Amino acid sequence: MPEKVFVFDTTLRDGEQSPGCSMNLAEKLEMARQLDRLGVDIMEAGFPIASQGDFEAVKAVSAEIRRPVIAALARAVPLDINRAWEALKEAERPRIHTFLATSDIHLQFKLRKTRAQILKQISEAVGLARSLCADVEFSPEDAGRTDRNYLVECCHAAVEAGATVLNLPDTVGYCFESEYEQMFAFVKARVPGMDKVILSTHTHNDLGLAVANTLGGIRGGARQVECTINGIGERAGNAALEEFVMALHVRRDAVPVFTEIRTEELYPSSQMLSRLTGVAVQRNKAIVGLNAFAHEAGIHQDGVLKNAITYEIMKPETVGMPSNHIVLGKHSGRHALSKRFEDLGYQLTKPELEHAYEAFCRLADRKKQVYDEDLIAIVDEGFHNIPEMFTVKLFQSVSSSEGRSTATVELEKEGEVFHDSATAEGPCDAAFRAVDRITGVPGTIVDFSVHTVGAGKEGIAEVSVRARFEGREFSGKSVSHNVVEAAGRAYLQAANKAAYEVKRRGEGASVGAKPVHANAIVDRFFPGGY
Ligand SMILES: [Zn+2]
Repeated sequence: MPEKVFVFDTTLRDGEQSPGCSMNLAEKLEMARQLDRLGVDIMEAGFPIASQGDFEAVKAVSAEIRRPVIAALARAVPLDINRAWEALKEAERPRIHTFLATSDIHLQFKLRKTRAQILKQISEAVGLARSLCADVEFSPEDAGRTDRNYLVECCHAAVEAGATVLNLPDTVGYCFESEYEQMFAFVKARVPGMDKVILSTHTHNDLGLAVANTLGGIRGGARQVECTINGIGERAGNAALEEFVMALHVRRDAVPVFTEIRTEELYPSSQMLSRLTGVAVQRNKAIVGLNAFAHEAGIHQDGVLKNAITYEIMKPETVGMPSNHIVLGKHSGRHALSKRFEDLGYQLTKPELEHAYEAFCRLADRKKQVYDEDLIAIVDEGFHNIPEMFTVKLFQSVSSSEGRSTATVELEKEGEVFHDSATAEGPCDAAFRAVDRITGVPGTIVDFSVHTVGAGKEGIAEVSVRARFEGREFSGKSVSHNVVEAAGRAYLQAANKAAYEVKRRGEGASVGAKPVHANAIVDRFFPGGY
């Protein structure tokens, strides 16, 4: 009988805390809903003691997402554990996840404690967590480099104190697969009461071995896997959810286990995370990269055309990657569009569909055939629940190889139209500056990338922008035939998020508070016209 492997997603915790991947509350909730659709068994929503934002995120996810277990991280101290529980209280199925380092390196240099002191702390922390919550996970941090016999003692202490899940992390991404497998087998054989406890993997990709080690852990007896979408996470990242899930799916013959992940939600999940964080997925990324199913070599193409099985071990549809089929044109209606979105794994609300339909018509006007990937780009442009303070009326830019570029922008806020212009070395920069002049708060670009969606001259540009406003980073993404327009829209999306965040936190709505009204501008920066 194949056994189930529980999928513990930590995109919102271990993933989110890595540089460039931070998300605000609305973004975390949107991602949490997608992780629910994807079918993860447990989602770690944050580290409540770490910040007020993390606390609020865990609280909000706990209140809304009902099916999966919601976990919150806590160091093995009462302050953290109580705070985690406070955030989790409303969850249908809460889990406190507490951790304490157990390797001699960490004991000696970080904690400055003896092995005996650590054992006592594990018992007390797990005991406290268990007195609050029926589901308690314990992680001996740096288990991969912990003395095996001492690791058994630590696990024993945790199980005796009531831990229901034991996670053995390779915190620093140091283990080889065989070592990692043996560690699980060793602990499983020696800790009493293991029949009632689930063992879990948590691997990092410093040597590119995170997924391989995950599979090793499963072979050693682990039945829970901690992982993130796109493998985001500290340093080189965590085990990529989509990779180990598909490894188990494709090679069912090799390992007699299964997950309950809806594989056709893998690609939409990957795309959503990329949109929310502004971090692009590398083209050759396994499972979800743009090239993951592209056959370039002639001999491969020939084989695939004759029979896909010659070179394809899985189908793009299985992971929810849209094929390149022509789907819709200018005359397709809302119904056809809505149906196609459903096929692609998007459940759009009425206002969302309306928004998508407008964008679709804009695109179909200029492009004969609209492909699935165009549609995905349209939805990914943003149905975040953040109200848009400013909406775009017009982007216009003039540039040449000589001299400066000029951009004119018209934005609407609550029925009122504002316009302004700016010059800069490049046309995108000019567009950003024009937006700044209207919103009243300048942003600094942290990251800017352009990708093409679709092939050939028919392709459209997808621009991701990450910008810092008043010390905080926000991201935006947009698509258009016109790179400058896409850049301007993406930047405005980030600025709108910044404005919303400022408003929400009640820090005095400086972003967007004082727009420069169209009539108040006497083209003072362009006295000679342009
Ligand atoms: Zn980690």
